[in-house]
This record gives sequence, structure tokens and C-alpha cells, in this order.
Amino acid sequence: MEAMDMKIKQSMVGLVPYQPGKPIEEVKRELGLKEVIKLASNENPYGASPDVKEAIMEAYQDIAVYPDGYARELREAVASHVNVLPEQLIFGNGSDDVILILCRSFLTPADNIVTANPTFSQYRHNAVIEGAEVKEIPLKEGVHDLDAMLDAIDEQTKMVFVCNPNNPTGTYNSSREFMNFIKQVPEDVLVISDEAYIEYVTAEDYPETIPLIKDYPNLMILRTFSKAYGLAALRVGFGIANEELIRVIDPGREPFNTNTMGQKAAVAALKDQDFIQSCTKQNHQEMKKYEEFCRESGFHYFPSQTNFILMDLKKPGSEIFDYLLRRGFITRNGEALGFPTGIRITLGSPEQNDLIISELKKWLTAEVHPT
Ligand SMILES: *Cc1c(COP(=O)(O)O)cnc(C)c1O
Repeated sequence: MEAMDMKIKQSMVGLVPYQPGKPIEEVKRELGLKEVIKLASNENPYGASPDVKEAIMEAYQDIAVYPDGYARELREAVASHVNVLPEQLIFGNGSDDVILILCRSFLTPADNIVTANPTFSQYRHNAVIEGAEVKEIPLKEGVHDLDAMLDAIDEQTKMVFVCNPNNPTGTYNSSREFMNFIKQVPEDVLVISDEAYIEYVTAEDYPETIPLIKDYPNLMILRTFSKAYGLAALRVGFGIANEELIRVIDPGREPFNTNTMGQKAAVAALKDQDFIQSCTKQNHQEMKKYEEFCRESGFHYFPSQTNFILMDLKKPGSEIFDYLLRRGFITRNGEALGFPTGIRITLGSPEQNDLIISELKKWLTAEVHPT
């Protein structure tokens, strides 16, 4: 029997798995480098709160028993932190998992979703698996074109994804834009506001969406512990919405989709808001270095409300990527993100950022040839 005599569902044919940033160990081996730093997946370069370690040690004692599938302790902590009822939350094995739960709960091959392009890859990926059509609306100067996204909604549209701030551009839609948009979305279309980078946002006109769930039962907000909270390896994300919406999608969730270590770590991480503040403040300082570099050298960049920056360095993305890789930095090639002469760099520690910028200056502005 040949493996592919079995008939996988049509929507899976030709799909490729998520392409993660290059693994550190592989790069070290291939290029003979001693130190390699990964600035490709928007993780926190300062790690997580020191309190997390203790929480993990405590969780260690319970690893032989199943986790609390309802995540009660974490649920209560998050509910009080974001000021909603515990029943207005759904937890996921990362917010990726909540996206999957939403897609499997809502989509059939007769439906479509509306997203921006380029944006976070998992909206499209999960919708495609469900056989749904994906209507991709190009960004306008790097920002979600909410008017055009509104126009794209039709009778078959089940969900609209608004990645705010957007990955990979770091740009955001203002409160005014978002309100104008959601007011016009039909009541039977789910709006997902993916706020994975909200802790980094400083813009004063960034939408405050949580108070809207009262008036908009078709709004789902996504947050994560993987980025500013520094818990990417432990896989904890969550959705915030009207209780009724949470109740109907909950059966689409795996029973133990968040684990004991993740739950306990997230509770500890949430308590240490000083850590979050110091990381986001530092991030803001570091962002200025990249912006200054771009301004001085005449490169376009997207103003970012996140911990990454997408810059147009006017050379093929793969060349910039390789140049930085040979110097021990794994970044994201803009070619794979819809920006052929771009590079997306996750902001690192001050030392790492200084080093990257000086390497880029040497190459791009002094015309030193890469070796
Ligand atoms: C990183 C990211 C996520 C997913 O994070 P999880 O680790 O699955 O919680 C979701 N949305 C965006 C826009 C992201 O960049």
C-alpha cells in the first residue's frame, strides 16, 4: 500500500507546515559560529519574570497528573487583570490554538474569511484547512485597509481578522478607524482583534477593545503570553469575548489544551507587571535606534508599535538575511513576508541591537562587500 492511497481531505493538499525561524543549533553547525542569536519570532530578549522559575518548580511536582482543563486559577487571574468575567475567557495552547478553535467552530467550505495581506499566517492557514475561501485585502501603506475589508464582506463571510498591531509590519489601526469599522460589520460576522503585541503599544489612539464586548457579541479579542510575557515555550494564549460566544466554541477546544507549567507560569508572569514595564520601556528605547538608523541612511521603515521592525534596506531580503546570519543573527527575510527588499528584525538586547546596526551600516552605507 502506498501512503497516499489514503485520501487526505482536499483542503490539505499542497499545504506546507508553518515555517519557523531557522533553529539556532542548525545555524551554529552550518556556519561554524559559537554564538547565534535568534531575532526572528518576536520573543522577549529579556526572557520572563524571575518569578516564573519558582512557579515552574511548583508545577513540576504535578506533572504526572492532567492539568486543570478549565485553567481556573489562571482564568481568575486574567479575568481580574483585564477586568472581565472568568466566563468571558477561552484559553489556548498559544493564541494560535484559539485561532484554530475559532476556524474549526465557524468555517465550512461554503464560507469565507477576510484578512489583510501580508498579515499573520495562521488565519489563512486554519481557514484553508477548513476548506474556506480567504479574501486577502492588501495593506494600505502597511496598515489594514479596514474600509476595503468591510467592502469585501459578503453573504458567505464568517470572520474578519484584524491583526492590531499587524505582524509583520508593526503598524496599527486607530480607535477611530476600528470603531468606524466594527459599527458597520454585519452582526453575524465575527471580528477578531488579534492583540498579540498590546503590551508594547504606546499610541494613545490605539483602540481599547475590551469594553466593546458588551455591545458587540461578535467581537473576539486575542492575547498571548508568548511575546512580552516571555513564555513562548509554554504555549499560553487566550481569547476574550461575550460569554455566549465563549460557551459555543468551548466544545471545539481540546480538553487539556493548556498545561500545568504554562498555567502556573502565566499566573506568576501576570503578577509581575514591573517586569513587563521595564521590558517594554527598554524596547521603546531600542526601537529609536533602528528608526534613527533608517532615517540617517534613507531607508523606509514601518513605524512599529511592537517589538519588531520591518525595514526596506533596498537589497534583496535574502541577501540581508544571509549577511546577518553569517554574523550570528537569525532574522526574517522580507521576501517570505511580502516585502522583497525588506527584513524584519525582532528587537534584541541593547548590545545586540548596537551590533546589528553597526554591521548593517558597514555593509549598506559604506559599501563594504560582505564576506
Ligand atoms: C506570535 C503571534 C501569535 C501567536 O502566539 P502564540 O504563541 O500562539 O500565543 C498570534 N498572533 C500574532 C499576530 C502573533 O505575532
